Amino acid sequence: AQERYASIRDTPCVSACGTRIEMHMNAGLMADLPSLENSGAEGVGLFRTELQFLVRNQMPRRTELAALYSRVLDAAQGKRVVFRTLDIGSDKVLPYMKPNDEPNPALGWRAIRVGLDKPGVLRMQLQALLRAANGRPLSLMFPFVAQYDEFAAARAEVDKAIDREVRLGHPLPEAIEIGAMLETPSLAFASQRLFDEVKFLSVGGNDLKQFFFAADRENERVRKRYDTLNVSFLTFLQGIVDRCRESGTRLSFCGEDAGRPIEAVCLAAIGFETLSMRPASVGPVKSLLMRTDLRQLRDVMARSRDRGDQSVREAVMQFLRANA
Ligand code: PEP
Ligand code: MG
Repeated sequence: AQERYASIRDTPCVSACGTRIEMHMNAGLMADLPSLENSGAEGVGLFRTELQFLVRNQMPRRTELAALYSRVLDAAQGKRVVFRTLDIGSDKVLPYMKPNDEPNPALGWRAIRVGLDKPGVLRMQLQALLRAANGRPLSLMFPFVAQYDEFAAARAEVDKAIDREVRLGHPLPEAIEIGAMLETPSLAFASQRLFDEVKFLSVGGNDLKQFFFAADRENERVRKRYDTLNVSFLTFLQGIVDRCRESGTRLSFCGEDAGRPIEAVCLAAIGFETLSMRPASVGPVKSLLMRTDLRQLRDVMARSRDRGDQSVREAVMQFLRANA
């Protein structure tokens, strides 16, 4: 399938109305890295570090992790890789960790909540990332941040890890940028400090959508009822885009919807200028973006909303059939 899009692989993605959209890919295992070149992605917008923990029978050691992350950066050849710190709990349970018996795992003790309450593994991981970068730039982000102080506490762990490396005389990354995933509605309304202090925000649409509609992402029966192009969800996303614009916060979208061409052009139309998706989606999404006038699409979406449509999908499909 990627051959079909080979002719645009190395072309920067610019929409028909001249908006530059950055195309990144999601990854998690070493085996994903060759896709960086094959897909033409400009970087790894989401590196799910838990996958490397999930494919093992025991907790990886720090040296092993540092070597792995270093190989990831080598393979990226200078393209940006955003490492997301461990996102376990909920649907991702490590075989060598005591399972938690929680009534609602998706709303439970997971991701950064575990990282802050039991910081041993997070600290080990941060140290491994700092060592792997070794003179190169390092981007990292924390999963499932629901309020400002979780971001601040996680960032303090990075500062501590840096101090430790300095004391040990180890080289530091050339630069470190720290961001957060926006996957709980609460974070969209967080104090301004959050928007000022994060280097970037990345919308985790899979989780954000499940919490916005209160519909379990693992449960087909309820998941399918709520369209991403539902007006209330788009209005919510638009608010996030506007807030980030006002505070000059870099914003991207890395949930599965970024890899669905119709959804992706709508995200771009409301102002997402960086999308991160599975590698196989880069070609099809880019191809549609390059054929789409996002300003016109934006008007189509606004008119559909003003008419009282529940979802803008029908109007969008009609417009794309006629114009893209
Ligand atoms: C998301 O929630 O949209 C996301 C990208 O993270 P994950 O799918 O790994 O939960
Ligand atoms: Mg998520």
